[in-house]
Amino acid sequence: MTRSPISGKVQTVLGPIKPETLGPTITHEHLLIDFRVVFQQPNNPDEAGMAEEKLSLANLGWIRHNWNSSADNLMLLDEDVAIAEATDYFDAGGRTLVDVTSNGLGRDPLALERISRATGLNVVMGGGHYIGSTHPAEFEAATAEEIAESIIQDVQVGVDGTDIRTGIIGEVGVSAPWAETERKTVQAAVIAQAQTGVPVLIHPGRDEELPLRILEAIAEWGGDLSNTVMGHIERTIYSRDALKRVAETGAFLNFDLFGHDSSFYPLAPHSYMPNDAQRMDQIEFLIDGGHIDQILLAHDVCSKHRLKRYGGHGWDHIIARVVPQMLARGVSRELVDRMLVDNPRRMLTFA
Ligand SMILES: [Zn+2]
Repeated sequence: MTRSPISGKVQTVLGPIKPETLGPTITHEHLLIDFRVVFQQPNNPDEAGMAEEKLSLANLGWIRHNWNSSADNLMLLDEDVAIAEATDYFDAGGRTLVDVTSNGLGRDPLALERISRATGLNVVMGGGHYIGSTHPAEFEAATAEEIAESIIQDVQVGVDGTDIRTGIIGEVGVSAPWAETERKTVQAAVIAQAQTGVPVLIHPGRDEELPLRILEAIAEWGGDLSNTVMGHIERTIYSRDALKRVAETGAFLNFDLFGHDSSFYPLAPHSYMPNDAQRMDQIEFLIDGGHIDQILLAHDVCSKHRLKRYGGHGWDHIIARVVPQMLARGVSRELVDRMLVDNPRRMLTFA
């Protein structure tokens, strides 16, 4: 790999910074997102009218259960809301937020720059491509090398004609089963990683064996697993055996849905969204297995109902409530800081 000029630094929307200045970091968020790509009509045909209602206290219980069947819930597009909610994270002690709103999810570099300035947070912007249903038609015929060109341009020059650069490639979407154009977009991310040293972050489909398959392919294509993040671990991998095998690849493991729990998970009706205590069980299992240095934490806020003003937990949830609970369960402060400060710093530093 040719060493890039950003090597050894972290690339934020305000430019490269020294890794030591990152502080507490949440590693998979969306300050702004148009997430209607996952919209589904309500399961119950009698509730079809709910899909177009604005979020309110009267329908919040329904939205928590059917969060992707409310179009309003899937649109986080108000910068003032993002600034106010992200400021709570800063006030709680958070210093860096990784926004992995990739192509297909409404990425807005200028807005991220404004939010970073208004909040004082380091904001790292994501690149690459979300799941196949968002891919442009020309990806059918394109090669991975061709797709990689604009991803590399985003890292080295800037996004959408700005000079605001990406500091991570992700979230790179993979569906279950893994679609053909998604194989190309993952391979394109690997090409960009090799050329620039940028970290790669993957969104896997809901299949317990898929994360391992993706990581094996990345390694086969010459990717650097120590510079790769497997996302959404807790809602994808329920068995300890599968978790152990993924951990043994050496990739970072993102427990990135803190604050989100539901016995019904509309995108995987056979399954469920674990709660924070179940996340902590999995994390403690990995710590006991010697994998502390691979664990990352985040909330993946991607809908209104996850933010405080709409009845949710907000971006300070991990610092304000999860960390105290971890400490109460006997995880040491030193280990908490490894997950919240040291690991994200190492992950975000360009190779
Ligand atoms: Zn996400």
